[in-house]
Amino acid sequence: MTTAVVDEGVDSAVLLLRSERARTRGDYREGRRLAEQVVVAATAAGDDRALAQALRLVCHQAARLGDLEDAARAGAEAFTVADRLRDVPGQVEALNLLAFSYLQLALFEEALGAIERSTARVVTLPDADLRSATFNRAGTIRCAMGDFDEAGELFDRAGAELAGQDVSDETRFCLLTNTADLVLNRAYAGVDVPAADLRHGVEVSGQAFRLAEEAGNPYRQAITLLNRGALTTYLDDPEPAARDLQACRDLSRTHGYRGLELSVLEARAMDALRRKDFEAATGLFTDVVRMAEAVEDATILVRAQELLARCHEETGDFRSALAAYRRFHELQTRQQTQTAQVRARLLTQTVELQRLRSHAETLDRQAHEDPLTGLRNRRSFDAALPDLLAGAGEGDRVCVCLLDIDHFKVVNDTFGHGVGDEVLRRFGTLLRQDVRDQDLLARIGGEEFALVCVLRGPSRTGDGLEGVQRRLDRLRHEVEQADWGQVADGLRVTVSLGAVVGARPDPGAGGDLLCQADRLLYAAKAAGRNRVVVGPVSPR
Ligand code: GH3
Ligand code: MG
Ligand code: MG
Repeated sequence: MTTAVVDEGVDSAVLLLRSERARTRGDYREGRRLAEQVVVAATAAGDDRALAQALRLVCHQAARLGDLEDAARAGAEAFTVADRLRDVPGQVEALNLLAFSYLQLALFEEALGAIERSTARVVTLPDADLRSATFNRAGTIRCAMGDFDEAGELFDRAGAELAGQDVSDETRFCLLTNTADLVLNRAYAGVDVPAADLRHGVEVSGQAFRLAEEAGNPYRQAITLLNRGALTTYLDDPEPAARDLQACRDLSRTHGYRGLELSVLEARAMDALRRKDFEAATGLFTDVVRMAEAVEDATILVRAQELLARCHEETGDFRSALAAYRRFHELQTRQQTQTAQVRARLLTQTVELQRLRSHAETLDRQAHEDPLTGLRNRRSFDAALPDLLAGAGEGDRVCVCLLDIDHFKVVNDTFGHGVGDEVLRRFGTLLRQDVRDQDLLARIGGEEFALVCVLRGPSRTGDGLEGVQRRLDRLRHEVEQADWGQVADGLRVTVSLGAVVGARPDPGAGGDLLCQADRLLYAAKAAGRNRVVVGPVSPR
């Protein structure tokens, strides 16, 4: 059992590394496949660290492949797991990825919500790279919402975080690309962008392209080519523009970046429209609409349908223009409905997931806890014992103690089973108050309990049995002196203890130590009960 978990761990680590490598070189299909394998293995093994990382990789790569709802689900789940682990950088990374998926789904409010939660966390961290990435993402969202000035400020903040820092190429790439993207978005929105700004956008796209080439990541290369190509069209430099856009389209086709292929088409259509070549623009926007429908990019679809109507109008084809406008309004309404549906779907899934998770946690607790006393049960004790023993260091000692309530049958027979239960409950509470967090305490049978402790360092006096004897006798005394009269008039409760103490044992020696402790417990009972018998561990 333990071996299987360790093996999964090794496998998961290797798969995660391979998934991460695939992501870096832009092979998102392979990277996602590997990460999804880890999600399954890590869930089965209960390995939250691997699970959180795998889910982030799934989210990132599914979003790049256009599977946006899958991406959002993985991102939300990655956040939950990081939250459970109290891993703040992990939470920030998950929220940033989730915000990106929401943005692509046109769930702007959710995207803003996620990035705000991320920002609130990231400002408490010392990681400038992560802070910069978060401002960057916030800027992207603002940019997509048309808040260009706010986006510009956020990109400036992202850049300022990195001043004088040793910045990763990935972070630098993102900053350069987003700067270019902001210029392009202004231009697309019909803002009159000064030529100097356009040239600056072209320049930084070129720098970003070189970084992407060095990293060997075709997705990033394609994105920079798109930005540079589209910006260059505004500088009336048709040849290099066409070359960049063509190169972007080829890369996108090869690697399945359907979203980018669509953006290339849109850039060509926008260029034709800007040059007032309405015939060409009509054809191109018809293609954009068709492809946006195929890849289910509602944002581009609605935008293109409106521009298609305008093109028809400009060419004097009013009948087609009217039909296109009608379709535009239809799509707009449909998009709103769909957004609402996606929102509802993701929300129910999240709620359902939380319900299943808390149900699983309850089952898990029930499987490991004694319901009467709230202590560990036998099964949980057996599972935890080898780890506790393995945690003993060189020179440490281990004490294994069994406690059995005296004449408990008489308690039941005299006062009734209800009183017996209450005695067990209070006895459990008493024990719990007396042990340290690191000790292992369990109810292992009806009125039988076990306590295992690691005693750090060698004994200061002789064989060290006396110290243990004294401590356990104090516990025995506490039980005897407790106010049992509160539970039932005339009730008295005592306990017998048998314990062995020895040098750090073999982690598998637990069963043998329990048998030895049981023999000493029997001796305590035989000697008249209400006493403690401690002895050294005898060699097997
Ligand atoms: P000794 O001093 O030798 O240990 O005597 P004893 O009566 O405590 O030991 P014995 O093993 O003969 O009896 C244990 C009793 O504990 C019998 C069983 O009915 C009772 N018991 C076991 N589990 C529970 C429980 O959950 N609730 C109650 N009320 N009694 C229980
Ligand atoms: Mg008993
Ligand atoms: Mg017993």
